[in-house]
Amino acid sequence: MPEHLDRRDFLAAGAIAGASLAFPATVLGAPSVRRSCAARPVVIASANGNASRNADGKSCVQLAYERMVGGTDVLDALIAGVNIVELDPADSSVGYGGLPNADGVVQLDSCCMHGPRKRAGGVAALEGVRTPSLVARAVLENTDHHLLVGAGAQQFARQLGFTIEPDLNTAQSRALWLEWKRRLDPGHWLDPKQRTAEAQRVGLEMVRAGLIQRDHYYGTINCDGINAGGEICGVTTTSGLAWKIPGRVGDSPILGAGLYVDNDIGAAGSTGRGEANLYGLCSFLIVECLRQGMSPRDAALEACRRIRKATIEKRLLNARGLPNFGIHFYVLNARGEHAGVGMYPGASYAVCDERGPRLEPCTALLEGTPED
Ligand code: ASP
Repeated sequence: MPEHLDRRDFLAAGAIAGASLAFPATVLGAPSVRRSCAARPVVIASANGNASRNADGKSCVQLAYERMVGGTDVLDALIAGVNIVELDPADSSVGYGGLPNADGVVQLDSCCMHGPRKRAGGVAALEGVRTPSLVARAVLENTDHHLLVGAGAQQFARQLGFTIEPDLNTAQSRALWLEWKRRLDPGHWLDPKQRTAEAQRVGLEMVRAGLIQRDHYYGTINCDGINAGGEICGVTTTSGLAWKIPGRVGDSPILGAGLYVDNDIGAAGSTGRGEANLYGLCSFLIVECLRQGMSPRDAALEACRRIRKATIEKRLLNARGLPNFGIHFYVLNARGEHAGVGMYPGASYAVCDERGPRLEPCTALLEGTPED
């Protein structure tokens, strides 16, 4: 059994066992990696990284930190952490139970990046596999490519022994999709422009009605870690935007947008409105700002500033002329310093270091809320 899956996780995550057994990293021969200077080990994640629990009661950041300081490869440790969230039916923004697309089909995106090995892998619009982060990792390990999408990604997963399930909806995600359909009134034909606006309005109305958590309408987990040897890795995994047009891919699986790692500099990842992030490739931008000497907080604030400046369409602006959506970045540098930063206040991010797992407040660029 590969070192990065203990027996309990192995049994719990039957869907992922085949692929992990088929191509353990050790068999494929990890290339020698450059070790950088000693750092303070830490794992950070979006807030859901300290919410879902495995059978031992451990959260994503807690398990990932424990494994990482225990000597497990940093990326393997982070992926074991996000698997907890992917497999949690109650997290409707990631993996199994993630909110489906407009056709009621759950399509998942993920990418991962190994800083020391300077390699990455990703999947997008993948159906039928609860743990897209493990398929992303398999792309990194077994191919010369970075990103596999749709039916090709599923076929790749099947070939590597992942269990393909016919439907990743839970009773809850299906019920919410039916509610969305009902509110949208599919018999009411609108021109495509109005229809998109209407679909967005209905989705946000369901958020305001408390049917969907705000951070699950958009919603994702990004998790990044650095060990004592200065090895930095990251992973992002998501079911994407709720009720998206089938085939829509956001920022999460795109290198430089939903995730970027440079082992000498740091890591950045995102959650929130992927379309806004894609225009600025903000995870790459943040790592470049770190390279220029900015702190994790200032680097991420710069990304939020760029997004604010690039947001000029009326449909994306609130009454104050500011972005009417949320977006968050999670950043750590090569010294183990970190920050969570968002467009608006109120959010937190998950951290685990020698002080244990906890939530810390995110810094915000703007005041107020996206709505007003
Ligand atoms: N960023 C993800 C996407 O746009 C969703 C999210 O994080 O809310 O697909």
